[in-house]
Amino acid sequence: MTEIFYDSDADLALIQGKKVAVIGYGSQGHAHALNLRDSGVEVVVGLKDDSKSKPKAEEQGFTVLPVAEASAWADVIVILTPDQVQRHVYADDIKPNLAEGKALVFGHGFNIRFGYIEAPEGVDVVLVAPKGPGHTVRREYEAGRGVPVIVAVEVDASGSAWELAWSYAKGIGGLRAGGIKTTFTEETETDLFGEQAVLCGGTSQLVQYGFEVLTEAGYQPQIAYFEVLHELKLIVDLMWEGGIAKQRWSISDTAEYGDYVSGPRVIDPHVKENMQAVLADIQSGAFAERFIADQDAGAPEFTALRAKGEQHPIEATGRELRKLFAWNKSDDDYVEGSVAR
Ligand code: NDP
Ligand code: MG
Ligand code: MG
Repeated sequence: MTEIFYDSDADLALIQGKKVAVIGYGSQGHAHALNLRDSGVEVVVGLKDDSKSKPKAEEQGFTVLPVAEASAWADVIVILTPDQVQRHVYADDIKPNLAEGKALVFGHGFNIRFGYIEAPEGVDVVLVAPKGPGHTVRREYEAGRGVPVIVAVEVDASGSAWELAWSYAKGIGGLRAGGIKTTFTEETETDLFGEQAVLCGGTSQLVQYGFEVLTEAGYQPQIAYFEVLHELKLIVDLMWEGGIAKQRWSISDTAEYGDYVSGPRVIDPHVKENMQAVLADIQSGAFAERFIADQDAGAPEFTALRAKGEQHPIEATGRELRKLFAWNKSDDDYVEGSVAR
């Protein structure tokens, strides 16, 4: 049975009684640090001396310390650097500063699930994974709402790791929306599968193929962009509000009939088999190994794939078209045409 926790199920005082070091001040790091501070928690930020994020964290009023110093000072160490560098940061600067009674918090279970990080005895290991991007985690908190979280405990050395995890989840605003109990294995495998098969990989490929089919058939790229990318958000918003059923309720009968007869032609049973193969590679650790091996070699495959993606004609079309419209003025620090990392 799924167990869901809300604000009234957690005691904020637990995390308020701890010294918290947030390591990393990127998408998730800035959101956790700011939300915890606004919830009355004592927070410092841990970063490398030459970190690009340091000025921003300082501007936002945080004491920024080298990772080792922040880890030595803290009771609770939150690891929010990119997954592929976590094991290095951990081995070099965090592990030497761990002691019995401290806790490690993760935002994604990758390094624990695939064995890249093993905590010493006496240290709690917990996961509080917001089911949304960091900038949304912050924005929702400021609006008095929250992004749902999923929460797990890998090691309960203290006997109170669950209470601490729920308290932390409340501190970042997650329990305003609700928190679901999970495991590191379930969170990691489903998160990787969701982003690879559907949310990011599947959707990006679907949109690119749709754009290619229309433009290769001679239709204007601007019109194709609207039909296969821009409107996707409007459809997904309806799904988010009320499931696939609400989306089908809102669209025209023509669109709904087309959905039923053509959806399964495009996404046929082979696609499901491909998804199962993707899941198998996640479960076996083959995906993790490939990702980490490429990262350790300086990320040649990743860099080449990123460049190839940015060169797809749909990006140039979208860049020009979006300038002409007022629908998506954004206040985050994403720069059009450059992956800001
Ligand atoms: P980002 O890439 O946005 O941020 C990384 C931060 O870590 C930056 O501040 C970066 O500093 C810092 N950093 C990088 N290398 C080091 C290092 N060697 N030592 C110290 N600090 C370092 O990461 P995300 O927020 O995307 O991801 C963090 C974690 O959260 C991951 O586990 C991810 O899976 C998880 N997560 C992320 C989500 C998201 O919304 N992005 C959603 C849910 C979970 P600098 O500026 O100098 O590079
Ligand atoms: Mg995810
Ligand atoms: Mg993920």
